[in-house]
Amino acid sequence: RQSARRIADVIALFERVCAREEEELGRIDSVAGDGDHGQGMLLGSSGAADAARKAVSQDAGARTVLARSGEAWAESAGGTSGALWGAALVAAGNAVSDQEGVDQEALVGALDAAVETIGRLGGAKEGDKTMMDSALPFRRTLAASFTGQNAGEAIASAAAAAREAADATASITANKGRARVLGDKSLGTVDPGALSFAILMTELGEHLA
Ligand code: ADP
Ligand code: MG
Ligand code: MG
Repeated sequence: RQSARRIADVIALFERVCAREEEELGRIDSVAGDGDHGQGMLLGSSGAADAARKAVSQDAGARTVLARSGEAWAESAGGTSGALWGAALVAAGNAVSDQEGVDQEALVGALDAAVETIGRLGGAKEGDKTMMDSALPFRRTLAASFTGQNAGEAIASAAAAAREAADATASITANKGRARVLGDKSLGTVDPGALSFAILMTELGEHLA
Protein backbone atom coordinates (compact mmCIF):
# COMPACT_ATOMS: atom_id res chain seq x y z
CA ARG A 1 0.00 0.00 0.00
CA GLN A 2 3.06 2.22 -0.25
CA SER A 3 2.00 3.44 -3.72
CA ALA A 4 -1.47 4.38 -2.49
CA ARG A 5 0.05 6.53 0.26
CA ARG A 6 2.43 8.18 -2.22
CA ILE A 7 -0.47 9.02 -4.50
CA ALA A 8 -2.40 10.57 -1.62
CA ASP A 9 0.70 12.65 -0.81
CA VAL A 10 0.83 13.94 -4.39
CA ILE A 11 -2.84 14.92 -4.35
CA ALA A 12 -2.32 16.71 -1.03
CA LEU A 13 0.57 18.56 -2.70
CA PHE A 14 -1.79 19.53 -5.55
CA GLU A 15 -4.20 20.97 -2.98
CA ARG A 16 -1.46 23.13 -1.41
CA VAL A 17 -0.31 24.36 -4.81
CA CYS A 18 -3.89 25.17 -5.88
CA ALA A 19 -4.34 27.14 -2.65
CA ARG A 20 -1.16 29.06 -3.42
CA GLU A 21 -2.23 29.75 -7.03
CA GLU A 22 -5.96 30.29 -6.43
CA GLU A 23 -5.98 34.06 -6.72
CA GLU A 24 -3.75 34.26 -9.79
CA LEU A 25 -5.67 31.52 -11.67
CA GLY A 26 -8.92 33.31 -10.87
CA ARG A 27 -7.53 36.59 -12.10
CA ILE A 28 -6.41 35.03 -15.39
CA ASP A 29 -9.77 33.28 -15.88
CA SER A 30 -11.58 36.59 -15.32
CA VAL A 31 -9.92 38.18 -18.36
CA ALA A 32 -11.94 36.21 -20.91
CA GLY A 33 -13.79 33.64 -18.75
CA ASP A 34 -15.87 33.68 -15.57
CA GLY A 35 -13.04 34.00 -13.06
CA ASP A 36 -13.65 30.76 -11.16
CA HIS A 37 -10.70 28.65 -12.29
CA GLY A 38 -8.66 29.19 -9.11
CA GLN A 39 -11.65 28.41 -6.95
CA GLY A 40 -12.56 25.36 -9.03
CA MET A 41 -9.04 23.94 -8.90
CA LEU A 42 -8.83 24.46 -5.14
CA LEU A 43 -12.26 22.91 -4.45
CA GLY A 44 -11.47 19.98 -6.74
CA SER A 45 -8.02 19.22 -5.40
CA SER A 46 -9.19 19.67 -1.82
CA GLY A 47 -12.09 17.24 -2.30
CA ALA A 48 -9.74 14.82 -4.03
CA ALA A 49 -7.14 15.05 -1.25
CA ASP A 50 -9.79 14.30 1.38
CA ALA A 51 -11.06 11.33 -0.61
CA ALA A 52 -7.51 10.03 -1.10
CA ARG A 53 -6.73 10.24 2.63
CA LYS A 54 -9.95 8.46 3.45
CA ALA A 55 -9.29 5.69 0.92
CA VAL A 56 -5.75 5.19 2.24
CA SER A 57 -7.10 4.94 5.80
CA GLN A 58 -9.41 2.19 4.54
CA ASP A 59 -6.37 0.36 3.13
CA ALA A 60 -7.31 0.96 -0.54
CA GLY A 61 -4.80 0.29 -3.32
CA ALA A 62 -3.46 2.71 -5.93
CA ARG A 63 -6.24 2.18 -8.46
CA THR A 64 -8.99 2.75 -5.90
CA VAL A 65 -7.33 5.82 -4.39
CA LEU A 66 -7.12 7.43 -7.82
CA ALA A 67 -10.69 6.46 -8.73
CA ARG A 68 -12.15 7.90 -5.51
CA SER A 69 -10.01 11.04 -5.83
CA GLY A 70 -11.12 11.61 -9.40
CA GLU A 71 -14.80 11.22 -8.55
CA ALA A 72 -14.38 13.63 -5.64
CA TRP A 73 -12.49 16.17 -7.77
CA ALA A 74 -15.25 16.33 -10.39
CA GLU A 75 -18.00 16.55 -7.75
CA SER A 76 -16.27 19.15 -5.58
CA ALA A 77 -15.07 21.43 -8.37
CA GLY A 78 -17.93 21.59 -10.81
CA GLY A 79 -17.01 23.39 -14.01
CA THR A 80 -15.29 22.18 -17.15
CA SER A 81 -11.82 21.80 -15.75
CA GLY A 82 -13.16 19.89 -12.72
CA ALA A 83 -14.85 17.31 -14.92
CA LEU A 84 -11.67 16.92 -16.98
CA TRP A 85 -9.30 16.66 -14.00
CA GLY A 86 -11.67 14.20 -12.31
CA ALA A 87 -11.82 11.99 -15.39
CA ALA A 88 -8.04 12.24 -15.77
CA LEU A 89 -7.46 10.88 -12.25
CA VAL A 90 -9.95 8.06 -12.80
CA ALA A 91 -8.17 7.18 -16.07
CA ALA A 92 -4.79 7.23 -14.31
CA GLY A 93 -6.28 4.81 -11.77
CA ASN A 94 -7.51 2.50 -14.50
CA ALA A 95 -3.93 2.29 -15.79
CA VAL A 96 -2.58 0.91 -12.48
CA SER A 97 -3.60 -1.90 -10.15
CA ASP A 98 -4.61 -2.12 -6.51
CA GLN A 99 -2.36 -5.11 -5.87
CA GLU A 100 0.92 -4.21 -7.53
CA GLY A 101 2.93 -1.13 -6.70
CA VAL A 102 3.16 1.75 -9.16
CA ASP A 103 6.64 1.48 -10.69
CA GLN A 104 8.20 4.09 -12.97
CA GLU A 105 6.70 2.60 -16.10
CA ALA A 106 3.23 2.41 -14.55
CA LEU A 107 3.50 6.03 -13.40
CA VAL A 108 4.33 7.23 -16.90
CA GLY A 109 1.57 5.04 -18.36
CA ALA A 110 -0.94 6.52 -15.89
CA LEU A 111 -0.01 10.08 -16.86
CA ASP A 112 -0.27 9.19 -20.54
CA ALA A 113 -3.74 7.74 -19.99
CA ALA A 114 -4.79 10.82 -18.03
CA VAL A 115 -3.89 13.20 -20.87
CA GLU A 116 -5.43 10.87 -23.46
CA THR A 117 -8.70 11.01 -21.52
CA ILE A 118 -8.71 14.81 -21.20
CA GLY A 119 -8.29 14.99 -24.98
CA ARG A 120 -10.99 12.45 -25.75
CA LEU A 121 -13.52 13.91 -23.31
CA GLY A 122 -12.88 17.57 -24.07
CA GLY A 123 -12.43 17.12 -27.79
CA ALA A 124 -10.04 20.08 -27.91
CA LYS A 125 -7.18 20.27 -30.36
CA GLU A 126 -3.86 21.99 -29.90
CA GLY A 127 -4.31 25.68 -30.68
CA ASP A 128 -7.87 25.83 -29.31
CA LYS A 129 -6.47 27.62 -26.23
CA THR A 130 -7.39 25.00 -23.63
CA MET A 131 -5.64 22.72 -21.18
CA MET A 132 -4.68 20.53 -24.15
CA ASP A 133 -2.25 23.20 -25.32
CA SER A 134 0.01 22.28 -22.41
CA ALA A 135 -1.15 18.68 -21.84
CA LEU A 136 -0.27 17.48 -25.35
CA PRO A 137 3.31 18.85 -25.35
CA PHE A 138 3.59 17.31 -21.88
CA ARG A 139 2.49 13.91 -23.19
CA ARG A 140 4.80 14.04 -26.21
CA THR A 141 7.85 15.09 -24.23
CA LEU A 142 7.14 12.48 -21.56
CA ALA A 143 6.97 9.70 -24.17
CA ALA A 144 10.13 10.95 -25.89
CA SER A 145 12.27 11.38 -22.77
CA PHE A 146 11.27 8.37 -20.65
CA THR A 147 13.85 5.58 -20.94
CA GLY A 148 12.17 3.13 -18.58
CA GLN A 149 14.04 4.24 -15.45
CA ASN A 150 13.84 8.01 -15.11
CA ALA A 151 10.17 8.83 -14.57
CA GLY A 152 10.89 11.82 -12.29
CA GLU A 153 13.34 13.38 -14.75
CA ALA A 154 11.08 12.67 -17.73
CA ILE A 155 8.12 14.26 -15.93
CA ALA A 156 10.23 17.31 -15.07
CA SER A 157 11.26 17.71 -18.74
CA ALA A 158 7.69 17.23 -19.88
CA ALA A 159 6.48 19.79 -17.33
CA ALA A 160 9.00 22.32 -18.63
CA ALA A 161 7.64 21.79 -22.15
CA ALA A 162 4.09 22.17 -20.80
CA ARG A 163 4.98 25.43 -19.08
CA GLU A 164 6.54 26.86 -22.21
CA ALA A 165 3.47 25.86 -24.22
CA ALA A 166 1.11 27.29 -21.58
CA ASP A 167 2.94 30.61 -21.69
CA ALA A 168 2.67 30.60 -25.49
CA THR A 169 -1.15 30.40 -25.31
CA ALA A 170 -1.11 34.14 -24.54
CA SER A 171 -0.56 34.82 -28.23
CA ILE A 172 -3.49 32.75 -29.54
CA THR A 173 -7.20 33.54 -29.64
CA ALA A 174 -9.67 31.22 -27.93
CA ASN A 175 -12.49 31.19 -30.41
CA LYS A 176 -11.49 32.27 -33.85
CA GLY A 177 -15.03 32.61 -35.17
CA ARG A 178 -16.23 34.81 -32.35
CA ALA A 179 -12.96 36.69 -32.12
CA ARG A 180 -13.38 37.88 -35.68
CA VAL A 181 -16.62 39.60 -34.76
CA LEU A 182 -16.05 40.78 -31.20
CA GLY A 183 -12.31 40.86 -30.87
CA ASP A 184 -10.78 38.42 -28.41
CA LYS A 185 -10.36 39.52 -24.82
CA SER A 186 -8.13 36.50 -24.15
CA LEU A 187 -5.41 37.67 -26.54
CA GLY A 188 -2.36 38.57 -24.45
CA THR A 189 -3.44 36.37 -21.51
CA VAL A 190 -2.56 32.70 -21.09
CA ASP A 191 -5.23 30.02 -20.88
CA PRO A 192 -5.86 29.37 -17.17
CA GLY A 193 -6.37 25.62 -17.56
CA ALA A 194 -3.20 25.23 -19.63
CA LEU A 195 -1.27 27.14 -16.97
CA SER A 196 -2.65 25.21 -13.98
CA PHE A 197 -1.87 21.90 -15.71
CA ALA A 198 1.74 23.00 -16.28
CA ILE A 199 2.10 24.26 -12.70
CA LEU A 200 0.84 21.00 -11.18
CA MET A 201 3.06 18.86 -13.42
CA THR A 202 6.06 21.05 -12.53
CA GLU A 203 5.35 20.44 -8.85
CA LEU A 204 4.96 16.70 -9.50
CA GLY A 205 8.33 16.60 -11.25
CA GLU A 206 10.03 18.43 -8.37
CA HIS A 207 8.29 16.20 -5.82
CA LEU A 208 9.62 13.06 -7.55
CA ALA A 209 13.16 14.40 -8.06
P1 ADP B 1 -15.37 26.78 -16.44
O1 ADP B 1 -14.92 27.09 -17.84
O2 ADP B 1 -16.49 25.80 -16.40
O3 ADP B 1 -15.60 28.02 -15.62
P2 ADP B 1 -12.74 26.49 -15.27
O4 ADP B 1 -12.71 27.97 -15.24
O5 ADP B 1 -12.37 25.77 -14.02
O6 ADP B 1 -14.17 25.96 -15.76
O7 ADP B 1 -11.76 25.94 -16.38
C1 ADP B 1 -11.53 26.61 -17.56
C2 ADP B 1 -10.44 25.88 -18.30
O8 ADP B 1 -10.92 24.62 -18.72
C3 ADP B 1 -10.00 26.56 -19.57
O9 ADP B 1 -9.02 27.53 -19.30
C4 ADP B 1 -9.46 25.42 -20.39
O10 ADP B 1 -8.07 25.21 -20.13
C5 ADP B 1 -10.20 24.22 -19.86
N1 ADP B 1 -11.11 23.72 -20.87
C6 ADP B 1 -12.32 24.21 -21.20
N2 ADP B 1 -12.88 23.47 -22.18
C7 ADP B 1 -11.99 22.49 -22.47
C8 ADP B 1 -11.97 21.40 -23.40
N3 ADP B 1 -12.98 21.15 -24.21
N4 ADP B 1 -10.86 20.61 -23.43
C9 ADP B 1 -9.83 20.83 -22.59
N5 ADP B 1 -9.81 21.83 -21.70
C10 ADP B 1 -10.86 22.65 -21.65
MG1 MG C 1 -14.01 29.48 -15.31
MG1 MG D 1 -17.26 28.39 -14.37
